[in-house]
Amino acid sequence: MEKHHKFSIWYVLVGVWIVLLVQHYLMLAFSIKTIPYSEFLKLLEEGKVAEVAVTSNEIQGRLRVDTAVGEKGMLFRTVRVDPDISELLAKYNVTFRGQVESTFLRDLMSWVIPILLFVGIWYFMMRKIAGQHPGFMTLGKSKAKVYMEDEIPVRFKDVAGVDEAKQELMEVVEFLKNPEKFQEVGGRMPKGILLVGPPGTGKTLLAKAVAGESGVPFFSMSGSEFVEMFVGLGAARVRDLFDQAKKRAPCIIFIDELDALGKARGLGGVGGHDEREQTLNQLLVEMDGFDPNVGVVLMAATNRPEILDPALLRPGRFDRHVLVDRPDKKGREEILKIHIKKIKIADDVDIEAIANMTSGMVGADLANLVNEAALLAVRRNKKRVTMKEFEEAVERVVAGLEKKNRVINEEERKIVAFHEVGHALVALSLPGTDPVKKISIVPRGIAALGYTMQVPTEDRFLMKKTELLNRIASLLGGRAAEELVFGDVSTGAHNDLARATDIARSMVREYGMSEKVGQVYFAREKHSQFLNIPAMDLRGDYSEATAQLIDQEVREIISAQYEKAKGILQEKRNVLDRGAQLLLEKEKIEGEELKALMSPAS
Ligand code: ADP
Ligand code: MG
Ligand code: ZN
Repeated sequence: MEKHHKFSIWYVLVGVWIVLLVQHYLMLAFSIKTIPYSEFLKLLEEGKVAEVAVTSNEIQGRLRVDTAVGEKGMLFRTVRVDPDISELLAKYNVTFRGQVESTFLRDLMSWVIPILLFVGIWYFMMRKIAGQHPGFMTLGKSKAKVYMEDEIPVRFKDVAGVDEAKQELMEVVEFLKNPEKFQEVGGRMPKGILLVGPPGTGKTLLAKAVAGESGVPFFSMSGSEFVEMFVGLGAARVRDLFDQAKKRAPCIIFIDELDALGKARGLGGVGGHDEREQTLNQLLVEMDGFDPNVGVVLMAATNRPEILDPALLRPGRFDRHVLVDRPDKKGREEILKIHIKKIKIADDVDIEAIANMTSGMVGADLANLVNEAALLAVRRNKKRVTMKEFEEAVERVVAGLEKKNRVINEEERKIVAFHEVGHALVALSLPGTDPVKKISIVPRGIAALGYTMQVPTEDRFLMKKTELLNRIASLLGGRAAEELVFGDVSTGAHNDLARATDIARSMVREYGMSEKVGQVYFAREKHSQFLNIPAMDLRGDYSEATAQLIDQEVREIISAQYEKAKGILQEKRNVLDRGAQLLLEKEKIEGEELKALMSPAS
């Protein structure tokens, strides 16, 4: 209930303030003036006192209405000094009682009125909040928020440039179309499919296309909508969402922006995250509890998979990851074609040229670009959108993006291309390295600048020393290529260096693979696997001399492998050049294409 408290503390503060304020004014209105005893005596002598009430130490009274002093009928109070006052009072013909008139009612009123006022305001505000958040009063009934669509018009053909993701999702469509067939064979669907990729690449669109293709209801909700003001609401929503979906199976549940809800537990701000935690726990419970064979497919999208709670990614949860990366040139062409279909274009429009100009843009940017071009044409009273408008639109969109994130320049692109081909070429030339699947320099894709994707052919439990060395060499291939081609190196390799150094250090300290250091294990247990306690002391128990020797050995391994990588690249310099050229043209090439360049025939 922590969150609830925190939420209402403001109401309490505002309320107290109002109470004090109102009370102050009420007291003024009912004000009783305190006067010195001498003045009371004077008033008495002047015959201005109408009546008094006397207690053992206080006198309260009212002045005569016709008196000129103060307001008419003014109330006063004074401390009783004279022990025997009744005679005096009788002398001046003042009615007097032996008891102070009760102020209880008045005191009560000065509290009750403000409190009533406060409660009224509070109630009013609550009503307002409830109006904005329908879930507020209907605690946890997510009906108002679940966004259910029966017939989705989106199809796979509306999404372009993400062929691999489409291919993977094809299977899901098959399953949703006839789940019985899958059940007969005993096949099991993955429970959760996580679409991972930068914003605007079409993740939401893809999820909708899956629903559209399979013709099933589509329940969608955004992760941030689960995180509610009041503890327990989000969890109730999750429960409700799953209940509703199960009734409509086969169907798709889609949770957009999963990161808003699935941030790793224990991360995040100071307190106040237990609501999200509860919601997340509920989601995990629901995921464990439902049998995918009833025909409910759970999909989610995120652009920050790295901050997700690991529990979400475990087998049986979101165990199938589908990468939706930024499109390459070919992909951009296809996306442009989809969006251009909606407008009228002149004959001079060259879609390929536009794709060339828009490196790094995602589907959403391209959709925006086409719209922008159409607006420009309308403004110029043109019947059709010409290339000129597209060029201007590109400039506008790029300028907008430039403000948001750096746009890579030609020189940098070239360096990145050679760097990535360097990695790939060294990897392809050495045995025991993972096969190169793909090389990409699509800016700001899954990696910051470019990446070389190496996919292991099999799970490895043992690695031979030569394999480890070759792996280091291919990691250093990027930098080696830069040095070879440009005679200079860039900062782009720092991650490669870190990984290469890690491997080398492990070889020396843990695997006993250095002759000089010997077959000794020098790395103390880094940290407990289960308790998430950061390692306090990563150093093993060894002397300063050993530490120096280890450092020296690591450095030697690295520099030997660097030389090896450079040697390979020098020898295959023409393949490096042609590979980089091809990569610059296409932005993304397959490992096979590079391999083809290496064969002597080409
Ligand atoms: P995400 O969910 O990945 O942030 P969206 O699916 O919301 O991106 O994409 C926003 C819009 O951008 C879509 O409605 C569509 O018009 C356009 N778009 C994005 N990616 C693509 C794509 N791959 N093919 C066609 N249009 C796309
Ligand atoms: Mg989205
Ligand atoms: Zn690299």
